Amino acid sequence: MCCVLGKHSPRKYYDEPVKKPCRKLVVDEMPIIKTFEKLDYKKRIADQLKATGNLIPPVRRRIPSTVPETITCPRCNAPHDYLYDNTGGRGQYLCKVCECTFNKKNYYLKNLLFCCPHCGKVLTQQKQRKDFNIHKCKNPKCPYYLTKLNSMSAEEKLRYEANPHDFKLHYIYREFNIDFEPLAKQASQPNTVNLSRLSVSPHILDLILTYYVNFGMSSRQTAALMREVHGVSVSHQSVLNYADAVARNIKPLIDNYKYSPSGSICGDETYIKVNGKWHYVFFIFDAVKKIILSYPVSPNRDTVTAIKALDDTLSKFENIPDDLTLIFDGNPIYILAQHYFAQYGIHFDIKQVIGLSNDDPVSEEYRPLKQIIERLNRTFNRDYRPTNGFNSFDGSVSFLTLFVAYFNFLRPHSTLEGKVPVVLEELSTLPNMPARWQILIKMSQAYIKTQQTA
Ligand SMILES: [Zn+2]
Ligand SMILES: [Zn+2]
Repeated sequence: MCCVLGKHSPRKYYDEPVKKPCRKLVVDEMPIIKTFEKLDYKKRIADQLKATGNLIPPVRRRIPSTVPETITCPRCNAPHDYLYDNTGGRGQYLCKVCECTFNKKNYYLKNLLFCCPHCGKVLTQQKQRKDFNIHKCKNPKCPYYLTKLNSMSAEEKLRYEANPHDFKLHYIYREFNIDFEPLAKQASQPNTVNLSRLSVSPHILDLILTYYVNFGMSSRQTAALMREVHGVSVSHQSVLNYADAVARNIKPLIDNYKYSPSGSICGDETYIKVNGKWHYVFFIFDAVKKIILSYPVSPNRDTVTAIKALDDTLSKFENIPDDLTLIFDGNPIYILAQHYFAQYGIHFDIKQVIGLSNDDPVSEEYRPLKQIIERLNRTFNRDYRPTNGFNSFDGSVSFLTLFVAYFNFLRPHSTLEGKVPVVLEELSTLPNMPARWQILIKMSQAYIKTQQTA
């Protein structure tokens, strides 16, 4: 995977991620996707009987079945009686009726056939990696292959003969196998903490949030300020615990709010430290409305997280506009993610603008976007820096949730004429920030209740 690290201005306050050398990942264009016709297992069994005189019997099992009773074949709908456990309980199944192999992750894709966009031949599944399968065009007459082969120098051809794996001459497609269906409304299971059980009054809690989140103070500074200005004794660990409890309560509202985004969306990754290791935050941002639409955290700058980030963003649209274009820097993971969504018939354009988030020059057209991304990163880093990183992954998610709540609902934005990006009637008339936090928390709790009763 391509990792160009250290793209933001150097900071003396904490050490920077190191530049890792990497091999450039080449992403080929989308394959042609054909849909298999759905088969009917009853008809197939009957046809087989007619043709050969043999009835396909259900699987005879010597030991109790490890195939769940609820699972059916994705291609022919055969019930679990006809399904073999192909890998001894590790989740790969084989249908006795249509010979389709499948698992939970690729279940939805089993009706798809991938063909080379250059020669139209069906791609051969080549390798299985952790998160994806590689499909390759093995047609020796494929124009893609022939062009690449003919453009090699004599010296390269010698190297190719010695080490064919160092060269990529064939068209390939990476089919991502991850365990979720795009745009499926994920059941929000708020891992809530009952705030009334915290040994702190709502007013004190709201003051703490204001200092810790809005003013970007560290937990220690917040605790000191509470003690020395307000005469309230609270430890810095309590500040973190309170912040975490509030984050869990407001996350469902922040993530499921009907933002109705504009069509102008851009994204960028930034760094945070979790347990001393650099992690990435995948921000995707509505450049017009100044709303953060997704913010997953991951130890890797990988396609799976890019897919997650895009899914969070796309699910915020009531209807995905036909001309939706998302703008990212040159990282190929977003192109791979785009291909993943296309497998499910979800289409959008991705424009890659080199230089969007680092020091390279960028064209006139995208300079405003670059400034917007830099401003978001600056705001985030001002809040993040005093934390000195997080000692748990959940802690980083809580911090980001509070940051996004603040950024989207509480922070006045100069380019929005001093308005907050998402104006909530309930908050706009309130006199100060602690009062707004209090109402935002109440609204979040009310939202969770409606979800639980729905
Ligand atoms: Zn089948
Ligand atoms: Zn081909």
